[in-house]
Amino acid sequence: MDLTFTAQELQFRDELRGWLRRNVPRDWASQRSGDSMEERFRFLRAWQKTVYAGGWAGVAWPKAYGGRGASLMEQVIFTEETALAGAPPLANVLGLGLIGPTIIAFGSAGQKQRYLDRILSGEEIWCQGFSEPNAGSDLAGLRTEARLEDDHFVVNGQKVWTSYGWAADWCALITRSDPNSSRHHGLTYLLVDMKSPGVEVRPLRQMTGESEFCELFFRDVRVPVENALGKIGEGWSVAIGTLMHERATLGAQMQVTFRRQFHRLAELARSMERGGRRVSEDPLLRQKLAQSYIEIEILRLNQMRAITRQSQTGVPGPEGSILKLNWSELNQRFQQTAAEVLGPYAQLTAGSEAAVDSGQWAYSYLRARGNTIEAGTSEIQRNIIGHFVLGLPKSY
Ligand SMILES: Cc1cc2nc3c(=O)[nH]c(=O)nc-3n(C[C@H](O)[C@H](O)[C@H](O)COP(=O)(O)OP(=O)(O)OC[C@H]3O[C@@H](n4cnc5c(N)ncnc54)[C@H](O)[C@@H]3O)c2cc1C
Repeated sequence: MDLTFTAQELQFRDELRGWLRRNVPRDWASQRSGDSMEERFRFLRAWQKTVYAGGWAGVAWPKAYGGRGASLMEQVIFTEETALAGAPPLANVLGLGLIGPTIIAFGSAGQKQRYLDRILSGEEIWCQGFSEPNAGSDLAGLRTEARLEDDHFVVNGQKVWTSYGWAADWCALITRSDPNSSRHHGLTYLLVDMKSPGVEVRPLRQMTGESEFCELFFRDVRVPVENALGKIGEGWSVAIGTLMHERATLGAQMQVTFRRQFHRLAELARSMERGGRRVSEDPLLRQKLAQSYIEIEILRLNQMRAITRQSQTGVPGPEGSILKLNWSELNQRFQQTAAEVLGPYAQLTAGSEAAVDSGQWAYSYLRARGNTIEAGTSEIQRNIIGHFVLGLPKSY
């Protein structure tokens, strides 16, 4: 593993830095702290359009599908530089990171032509309809039914915890198309237009106060047969493709976010006072800050290892589970340290005059709880590592 950049990568980085300097909206986070979730999303969607127009969306996607055809390392540089420049995130998180790559891997030429460019531009937002009330960790227990009638599937069932369901134009939906099948067999992965008659979206409120995810109900929803991604009845392998990308890509963004947050926290520890001395002079908190710094650095190195492997094999491997475990558990410990550094200020949310950094710390603390559940719980990641990396017997 070589961590030094090549001349080409340095040129890529400098060109990107120049573009970010000219285009990143100043102070966007504090100016938008009072926005509703919908207003903020509109802003992020417009930002994605700017990134797309600048030729920077889908950096590692093949040129044939509207990407830049860059290396995975350049994708990492893109993630790092956009975070370091304080750029807004891209709106179509799931389309770019999970569903687009799955369409590239399994889609027909017509599907690639139809969907990929609109994912990059943010013209069409995607959600991921996998989990059901009785099928989360045990996804193979899913029951949403897709009955083939002539040239359409008729879909009936329920999904839950669907992030961005309220904003999505399309849903990557995993269904049971063979009523006599069980577990991993007889499943079909469908691309479903969220405006189809019979689709109902009900927001679920989270402890952050937002409704980032939803319940989805499907009642006799007609989906054209050409919207099956991959072979009919073989949707399980397509779904696994999506999950591998989910585990491998989320960590990259998080590592840079944590680094930025960490440096801000260290700055706050130096400037805030408690009990007659600076917080940074508290021996216990100094230990915890140093520990967070070490863990964030380990995450960066683990991510480099995963990228190296992915550039060699072309697909993310089960080490994605190590990254997922690493960033999600690290974030909960880190946010706890932040809460101890900030003391009572840690609880002040956006809108409160005395809130530090527009209430970002209170939000991050609460949001971190979901990290060890989304994209597969910590127990499931350990099962995957135990079985696929260590060769231990399966847990079920
Ligand atoms: C913020 C957030 C966003 C999400 N976004 C989406 C989304 O966009 N699309 C989507 O489809 N889903 C989404 N999810 C759902 C997520 O994938 C599921 O919540 C997750 O897979 C766990 O499933 P479950 O909630 O049904 O819990 P369960 O599977 O019922 O698990 C309950 C507990 O049992 C443990 N457990 C279960 N099986 C085993 C086992 N074999 N060995 C050891 N322990 C086990 C689990 O680790 C957990 O602690 C999201 C969840 C969150 C929190």
